[in-house]
Formats: sequence, C-alpha cells, structure tokens
Amino acid sequence: MGYVIALANQKGGVGKTTTSVNLGADLTNLGKSVLLVDADAQGNATSGIGIQKSHIEKDIYDVLVNEEPIKNVILHSQHKGLDIVPATIQLSGADVELTPQMAREVRLSDAIKTIKDDYDYILIDCPPSLGLITINAFTASDSILIPVQSEYYALEGLSQLLNTVKLVQKHFNPDLKIEGVLLTMFDARTNLGNQVNKEVREYFKDKVYQTIIPRNVRLSEAPSYGLPIIDYDASSKGAKLYMELAKEVLAAHEK
Ligand code: ADP
Ligand code: MG
Repeated sequence: MGYVIALANQKGGVGKTTTSVNLGADLTNLGKSVLLVDADAQGNATSGIGIQKSHIEKDIYDVLVNEEPIKNVILHSQHKGLDIVPATIQLSGADVELTPQMAREVRLSDAIKTIKDDYDYILIDCPPSLGLITINAFTASDSILIPVQSEYYALEGLSQLLNTVKLVQKHFNPDLKIEGVLLTMFDARTNLGNQVNKEVREYFKDKVYQTIIPRNVRLSEAPSYGLPIIDYDASSKGAKLYMELAKEVLAAHEK
C-alpha cells in the first residue's frame, strides 16, 4: 500500500516543489515507484519533470471538481518510475468551486484511495496556502513534510500550519503525522543559516532531517530543462543532498 506524503508550507518559494520533484525522482532511483500529485495551480512540479502543457488533457482540477477518476489523469514522466497527476492554471478556480460541494474536503483522499496500491510513495506538492486544496492534501495523506527556507522568519506561519494539521486530524484524518522538517536553501557562509538551523531544531526537535539542502544554482536551473536534478547534473551538490534526503526518508520508514 502506497504511503502518502504532503509537502506543505503556506509560504511560497520555500522549496516545496523542488523537494517534491527531487525526492520523488530519487525515491525511484532507490527502487520505489512514485506518483507525484501536483496540487498547485502554478503547475511547477508538472513542468519541472518535463510535462508540456499541450500534452495535458485532464488534470487535478477535474479530479477534485468533476470527480474524474484519477487513473485517467495520470501521466508517465521521462524519469522511469515517476508518474504525475498534473496541474494547470485551471486549478486556481477549484477552491471557490468546491466550497458549496458535498464532501469537498475528502475529494483527493477518495481519489488517491483508488490508486494507492499502484505506488510505493505518493507525494503531494501543495499550493502556498492553507485553503481547501491543502486541506484535501492533508486529508489524503499519511504524513506531512515541511520544507523550511533557511532565511529570516523561517518559523513564521508554522504555528498556523500546525493548527491546520490539528483541525484535519480532528475532523478528517486522526492518523495524520508530521513526516519531517527539511531545511532548504541553506547557506553555510552566513550566521543566519546556522541560527535558523538552531531555532528550527529547538522547535521541531528530532523531526528535523539531518540532511540540509544547500542553496545550489544547479537546483534552480534543472526545472527549465524539465529534469529532476539527478538527471540534469548528478554530480552537483544539490543532487547529492536530495539523494541523502531520500535515503533518510526511506530509513525512517524501514525502522
Ligand atoms: P515552493 O514550491 O515552495 O514555492 P520552489 O521549490 O518552487 O518553492 O522554489 C522556489 C524557487 O527557488 C524556485 O525558482 C527554485 O528553483 C529555487 N530553489 C529551490 N530550492 C533551491 C535551492 N536549494 N537552491 C537554489 N535554488 C532553489
Ligand atoms: Mg511550488
């Protein structure tokens, strides 16, 4: 049975999509089958693994709003073992359209249940908000991985995020866990990075991964080639550290 992880932080630009794509690709290189669910209207995970907009007939919007079977929406990527439920800008209307509908919080959960056995891991790349799409993602997930940018105000907003987790646990998904907290875009040359590292570890304790993702220009170039970092520049620091993360995630599950 597949294990579902939502990558979430309502702040934009903290590394959710970069982590979804690269953790996903690395897990396949470690022998796991992975479905990436792009739940952001920006569609950055979709384009980031090389899926062109013109090749998308149906997307996650159709699954959430029109109850299209998720099977019909899944596409294979160029990277072996990595499939995707794509997103397009169409998704930006979903929050409003779902609001008056029945079972609006469990749409994604119901859809994912139908394909859970087909994958080892299902990673949901959440949008930068705590709205209905993120609630759907949390309701559908076993756990949440929180990327935190090693910057000023890194912890800001995280108590709101944890409140949303509590609400979803109370109403829809009592078993929802925190998978881990990942420091991203770390710059060891600054005191700030080290200070944020310390603060995040004080707050989240052993939930914080040992692996820290450095700021690495190759990581920011890879999406424009539609490639995970491992396929774009396997020798880069970014590639090495995302592989370490994937091993750490697997090790935690094999315990
Ligand atoms: P989010 O999905 O949280 O909005 P992204 O993963 O899209 O964040 O990252 C925001 C931007 O920062 C993107 O342009 C991405 O390529 C870049 N980026 C992400 N992680 C790194 C990193 N470790 N080093 C350099 N650039 C990064
Ligand atoms: Mg994103």
